[in-house]
Amino acid sequence: MEPDVESLPRGGFRCRLCHVTAANKPSLQDHLQGKKHQRLENLRAKRQDQELRSVFVSGFHKGTSAPELTEYFQTFGGVASVVMDKDKGVYAIVELQDQEVMEKVLAQPEHCLQGQRLRVKPREKKEFKYMPPKKQGSAHDIQLSPEKLVQALCQADDVDAQMSQLVQLFELSESERRLRHLLVTLFQEVFSEFFPECAILPFGSSVNGFDIHGCDLDLFLDLEKTKTFQANAKEPQGAQAEEGAGPDSDSEDSILSDIDLTTATVPEVLELVAAVLRKCVPGVHSVQVVHSARRPVVKFCHKDSGLLGDISINNRLAVCNTRFLQLCTEADERVRPLVYALRYWAKQQALAGNPFGGGPLLNNYALTLLVLFFLQTRSPPALPTLAQLRELTGDKDQAIVDGWDCSFPQDVSRLEPSTNTESLCSLLAEFFRVFGDHDFAGCVISLQEGRALPLPSFLLSEVGAKLKLGPFNVQDPFELSHNVAANVNEKIAQRFQHCCRDGAKYCRSLQYQRKSSKGKAWGLVRLFQPGVPEAGELGPDGLLITIPFMLMALSPGSREQLCQARDFRRCWFHKVCAAITFVLKDVLKCSCMGPAGESLGQEPTEQSGGEQPRSDERGSLAVSPAKKRPRVEGPVSEEEESVSWSCAVWHRVWMGRRRMRRQLRHLGSPQPDTEQEAGSLEVEEKVSEAIIQQEGESLGAEPLLRFTVCARVGGGQEDTRTLLYFTPAPQQGPLFQDFYHFLQGFLPRMVERYVGRTAWGRQ
Ligand code: ATP
Ligand code: MG
Repeated sequence: MEPDVESLPRGGFRCRLCHVTAANKPSLQDHLQGKKHQRLENLRAKRQDQELRSVFVSGFHKGTSAPELTEYFQTFGGVASVVMDKDKGVYAIVELQDQEVMEKVLAQPEHCLQGQRLRVKPREKKEFKYMPPKKQGSAHDIQLSPEKLVQALCQADDVDAQMSQLVQLFELSESERRLRHLLVTLFQEVFSEFFPECAILPFGSSVNGFDIHGCDLDLFLDLEKTKTFQANAKEPQGAQAEEGAGPDSDSEDSILSDIDLTTATVPEVLELVAAVLRKCVPGVHSVQVVHSARRPVVKFCHKDSGLLGDISINNRLAVCNTRFLQLCTEADERVRPLVYALRYWAKQQALAGNPFGGGPLLNNYALTLLVLFFLQTRSPPALPTLAQLRELTGDKDQAIVDGWDCSFPQDVSRLEPSTNTESLCSLLAEFFRVFGDHDFAGCVISLQEGRALPLPSFLLSEVGAKLKLGPFNVQDPFELSHNVAANVNEKIAQRFQHCCRDGAKYCRSLQYQRKSSKGKAWGLVRLFQPGVPEAGELGPDGLLITIPFMLMALSPGSREQLCQARDFRRCWFHKVCAAITFVLKDVLKCSCMGPAGESLGQEPTEQSGGEQPRSDERGSLAVSPAKKRPRVEGPVSEEEESVSWSCAVWHRVWMGRRRMRRQLRHLGSPQPDTEQEAGSLEVEEKVSEAIIQQEGESLGAEPLLRFTVCARVGGGQEDTRTLLYFTPAPQQGPLFQDFYHFLQGFLPRMVERYVGRTAWGRQ
């Protein structure tokens, strides 16, 4: 069989040289005898021949010209060409007339030009890679304006077509790809001179299938083989091996002689990488080592194109997850359009993006994993889980990277095609529906298993104990103790959910589903309009405030106790209910009334001194009730209980709190830690008292507001959220809206304080 041909599992063939797949032997033969294959074979032979006759030269004076080098090397024989690095004039590739001349050049122990000692080495042998020619008419080089995007999308026939269009509009053009390829080749060439046998591997969006115009170029410098090379070179018999072909460990300008790669720290090696970039890579500027990143990198900018890039040296896992993302795009053609649409939507809603220096937004990688997880959990699944992929992995693809099992088939033909046939239009709508009601804080999204892992039991596992929990938990598919969304804060997590609910609502409308015949914005276009959703908006369930699972607000001891509790959801729910009673009554001084005789006595744990909800001094407050109200259908389970409060608000305690807080701070005893105290339960209690005092103590005959609030455990099976449904008494208008808006921010914060401060006894 031809060395360029590999057979595919289902009887097909692939020509590695031309990236062409043939269904059977006759069509393979056609291809091999065809023009394209012949032309590439000839080109490859020519390049290889050139390589065999070329040397890499450095060490000459800055400003030395190509003719000067030609003249020097002509003393050994014919010189076919000299290619200088134009930008820096630091190295040159000298192509000699034939191998004989090259051997003469290499045999010379020392080369000197204008008093400078030259380094002369055989050229790095590279695998020949074919770059497909530029497509005709690809006009993607210009950055896309929002107007053009809207125009293009409105012209599509349906939402599916809009989504495919989006990919075409955003993806890298052929010329952008070509530039990236050339840069990678250049880096490989230069770095090989300083770090023999190293490899430069692109990862991230340039190669994972989710590229967009101008995305950064992420590179991994793999020094594993260089380490071995260096170690061998240090052995006495290897050290003085053939001149020219050897490691140059004795030459004074060899970078490798300055450093021992096996013992050097990451920052030391990165400084060295930065030095090579600054001095020896043409066209590169603004080189900077960023040590503070999770994976430290050297940043750079390519002058002509403005392309930004990173080089890291300890990020092999990213190369792996890049290939995994790529495999998913190959496995199902809906993956790319769906991810592009959701990335753009999330960017427009200021939910996701990769801002320099991090921040609380979801990063593109995390958002992409969320989409893949969503596809894994469709019925029937549109993508396999990693556990399933592992089953399909052949011996050659087994891989352990940094201690994590990264085995999955590299060849997509090993995967069974999915039987899921949902359209892109409905998948997008479903994404919003599913995540609009997902318990992000209460579970960990696992692509490994293709399901959301309930928290307490996950936390008791070995990897769970190490994973940094937050309001948004997405487990890396390979590095299982890494939460890729650990940076996301509560506010963004809540906004994400709000936006998903908004998205779901919009997707149910005809404006989403049908092209407008009147030239109005329809389909994706309206989804992409930026806008923070109205926080107080009435959802399908009325006025709803969600209290997420706040495991991390608890002390480590309480956390452990809760995790080990047999029924942690019930324990948590009761604690939240106690907190709500406390906040409404003691902090906000509302009256809470309910059916007589019932009380929230089920609070399962004792509280630490002083924080027990107190009975009200005014005597006008009835204790809030706990009311078990099993649902009408289905088995009665303790998880389905709910608790209701009937409340009355007598004072405008929601207004002017910030000002009052400030005043209290000035008036109060000047404790050094008052700043920190602001917002504590005690301070907030005092703020309410002060507001009441200011308004005048007198209670009117009628309260300002009346409402009921009903607490339930979230809808899903493993849900840990507490859903608070508010029902105002009729005709309270905007006053209640104001109060409700205030509660939306205030209540979850105060609950967090309350649960964090109280002790959790035996459950
Ligand atoms: P873009 O650069 O277009 O925003 P990207 O996927 O390249 O998208 P980067 O932030 O440049 O995103 O990250 C490059 C790669 O590094 C990612 O594709 C992923 O493989 C890996 N990566 C990024 N963030 C994380 C993370 N939080 N955890 C693990 N790997 C990550
Ligand atoms: Mg990137």
